[in-house]
Amino acid sequence: MKLLEQRIREDGQVLPGDVLKVDSFLNHQVDPELMAEVGKEFQRHFADQPVTKILTVESSGIAPAVFTGYAFKVLVVFARKHKSVTLKEDMFTSVVYSYTKKVSNHIAIARKFLSADDKVLIIDDFLANGQAVEGLIDIINQAGAQLLGVGIVIEKTFQKGRQLLDKRDIPVYSLARIKEFKDGQVVFTEEQENPDGAEA
Ligand code: 5GP
Repeated sequence: MKLLEQRIREDGQVLPGDVLKVDSFLNHQVDPELMAEVGKEFQRHFADQPVTKILTVESSGIAPAVFTGYAFKVLVVFARKHKSVTLKEDMFTSVVYSYTKKVSNHIAIARKFLSADDKVLIIDDFLANGQAVEGLIDIINQAGAQLLGVGIVIEKTFQKGRQLLDKRDIPVYSLARIKEFKDGQVVFTEEQENPDGAEA
């Protein structure tokens, strides 16, 4: 997605530890016009899928997930993060190791918001080592729901998340795919499908 790549080039900051800071438009300050385009693009890509629910993790997945839910006209649920969790019968829970914060968090979704009838699209801001997505998949399995695919705003292809999902034949669509960080600059892979050149 050219518009997104351009924004990452202009406003993204490469930090030590292969972390890209995008807090001026994605995960602190949010640009709703860009997020609306992100939501439309995920909807366009997964348009032939019978999506009934969007799942993400708080807090940085919420903005792209809500705009995607708006484009599909389906409800959005975000897993809440807790340092620890007293297992409650009314929640599905899983454990996620955070790459950027170097801590494990429990994530939880109320059972009443996810059922075996749901056909789910996962949306998240980043795909790095795949832990956040794995935690959501664990919860989807606990609910007996069906996973249709994963939509990622920014994928770091050099970390192992994509490989993990590919191995399990899970359809992943990433809007910006980063091959490497070189001299403090972002290097993208080639686009994976006919992009929205007109929007750039
Ligand atoms: P994973 O679970 O795939 O290792 O990492 C996914 C989560 O870690 C994302 O939801 C995101 O919040 C955070 N994350 C991973 N890499 C980056 C990064 O380069 N920049 C930022 N801002 N967050 C990241």
